[in-house]
Amino acid sequence: MTQDPRNHPHDHAHAHDHDHDHAHDHAHSPPQPDDKVHSYYQILGVALKELLIEKGVVSAQEVRAAIEARDMITPANGAKVVARAWVDPAFRAKLRADANAAVAELGFPMPTTRLVALENDETTHHVVVCTLCSCYPRELLGLPPSWYKSRAYRARIVREPRAVLAEFGADVPEEVEVRVHDSTADLRYLVVPRRPEGTGALDEAALAALVTRDAMIGVAPARAP
Ligand code: FE
Repeated sequence: MTQDPRNHPHDHAHAHDHDHDHAHDHAHSPPQPDDKVHSYYQILGVALKELLIEKGVVSAQEVRAAIEARDMITPANGAKVVARAWVDPAFRAKLRADANAAVAELGFPMPTTRLVALENDETTHHVVVCTLCSCYPRELLGLPPSWYKSRAYRARIVREPRAVLAEFGADVPEEVEVRVHDSTADLRYLVVPRRPEGTGALDEAALAALVTRDAMIGVAPARAP
């Protein structure tokens, strides 16, 4: 099966960050659910992977281990970054000035993509999207939720952000400006939600437990204690 890539919905000059099923029945790969028609890019991805293995550039074990390591990342990483920023003004300043250096300091290096931290405050509420596909700070949040990759979210959060935020149950007052940030292959965002009221006595680990994935995308506030 071939498909003209010019007609593919994801054909754009923007490095991809998609989840690929890589489902196929080739003997070199482990069994996969095979209930979908393979897209042009799925076939391309499988062919590329198999060539790299055949040429000895990577092993199947290395590919599997890399996927497994990615799948094990959870939003707890990002929550640790946010909690540290809440309790440590010097870290917060560093996160603002050079987010890549700041998160690397906590053990979450992002060597290939620039990271920008967006701090929500009483005047501005930040929310993140990738209008083209699914670019996401995976080193900090793991895999993006399915709604983040949906066409509806990608289109509507730009056109009517307040309506979409209301559907998530996020109450952003009229006087607070909503800013929507479009991620790219080279630039990812982490929203630092506002620290909830009444959390002055909590330690860093307890604060991190209030920081959810959705709060770090910007579609929800941090949880109340
Ligand atoms: Fe993207």
